[in-house]
Amino acid sequence: MRRLFIIILIISTQSCTSQTKKETTNKDSFLVNKTNAEWKQILSPMAYYVLRESGTEKAFSSPLNNNKEKGTYVCTACKAPLFKSVYKFDSGTGWPSFDREIEGHVAFTKDGSPDFYGIEEHCANCGGHLGHVFNDGPKTTTGKRHCINGAALDFIPKP
Ligand SMILES: [Zn+2]
Repeated sequence: MRRLFIIILIISTQSCTSQTKKETTNKDSFLVNKTNAEWKQILSPMAYYVLRESGTEKAFSSPLNNNKEKGTYVCTACKAPLFKSVYKFDSGTGWPSFDREIEGHVAFTKDGSPDFYGIEEHCANCGGHLGHVFNDGPKTTTGKRHCINGAALDFIPKP
């Protein structure tokens, strides 16, 4: 009988441990969490490559590069608003460029590489990779150039 009790105790302790672990993982990561398989189902291959594998689309490949309409650029994975059209400028690089993000919606990671390579930026809501920010943006405004993959963005025109 006692042995049975110990076995039950061990089993319940283990299940508690795994439960705690799960909660910690959720807290440490993003509001929107999906497995790679789940992301693959909802994202285009290019969006998956950029957002989930930190890839870079070909310059001048995104129709959003030349988009001059008024509206908001949202994360194509989780639809969180990331950039506003008023802060978009033509950098000539071939990627949609902004002089600032919507504050709090974009997170930055310095990965130890030289400033020349920029600081990596990702969606603060789902963690999807967006692009990099450089210090050679318009001097009349922020001096920042957020160089963003169009495949990571959806455009919502202003009504
Ligand atoms: Zn997102």
